[in-house]
Amino acid sequence: MKKLLLAPLFISMVCCAQPNLTQQDFANTIDAAELRVLLYTYASDEFEGREMGTAGEEKAVQFLRDQYKALGIASGTKDGSYFQPMTLDVRGKNVASKNVLAFIEGSEKPEEVLVISAHLDHEGVKNGKIYNGADDDGSGTVAMLEIAEAFQLAVASGQGPKRSILFLHVSGEEKGLLGSKYYTDNPVYSLENTVSNLNIDMIGRTDPKRKGNRDYIYLIGSDKLSQDLHDLSEEANKNFTNLTLDYTFNADDDPNRFYYRSDHYNFAKNNIPVIFYFNGTHDDYHQPTDTPEKIQYDLLEQRAQLIFHTAWEIANRDQRVVLD
Ligand SMILES: [Zn+2]
Repeated sequence: MKKLLLAPLFISMVCCAQPNLTQQDFANTIDAAELRVLLYTYASDEFEGREMGTAGEEKAVQFLRDQYKALGIASGTKDGSYFQPMTLDVRGKNVASKNVLAFIEGSEKPEEVLVISAHLDHEGVKNGKIYNGADDDGSGTVAMLEIAEAFQLAVASGQGPKRSILFLHVSGEEKGLLGSKYYTDNPVYSLENTVSNLNIDMIGRTDPKRKGNRDYIYLIGSDKLSQDLHDLSEEANKNFTNLTLDYTFNADDDPNRFYYRSDHYNFAKNNIPVIFYFNGTHDDYHQPTDTPEKIQYDLLEQRAQLIFHTAWEIANRDQRVVLD
């Protein structure tokens, strides 16, 4: 009896089961054309340079919330609003703003959380000129949206991450890393169980001062708190993306001090291992000429895929990232 029953069951599984999608299949959904569409909106004049506390920033946070809603990804705040409101002191003035949080709950270790971050704000409008911030940090922002979408597709096919992932869009970066400081001072998920932070700030351009191939990315901080995270990151790149991982700015005596200059630092100072992904500066850095047509979308795609693969390993590996 049992044997006879097995045959039709087997046939039905073959005929109707979803094809077995792989990690690479999900990564491949991170796509240059989609990144371009998102960035031409996010870095458009309509968002008025997304300065903290302005109407342009409000448009930006609503845009991000609506993207996560459309993807079916839950709010990262308990009230379901996606927003972490905050009033912050900016050079003696109180400015109201918000971080945007979206959350995919882990299937096996939901209490352990990987934070992927990018800052949502930029410089606003000065002397009548809009600072669109396409690279800074429109590039990191739209990369995060595509990475989130790839993870959500994995969830839909029964391969969601084992650990939780918080997609954290912080404001006030340009005013002094204020939104990330607010988050780490008022964490929604315990910092003790925050296993790593992957921070993306400017990954759509190339550094004109750098010699050599264009398919590189600067990594900063990966080995400062955890050799394990550094090794995992190298391995993910070797297995999947094969970009040149350039550690020029990771040196402890780097005069640019980039390690201290973006949002990951607020996690690192809380003893959370971080990687900062960065293309370096260029002539349009913090200028109104940082616009979306100057982004190299094929590179943005590759770099976002690297971050996805690194996140996948952190979230799915048996062991959580080990502090030195
Ligand atoms: Zn930035």
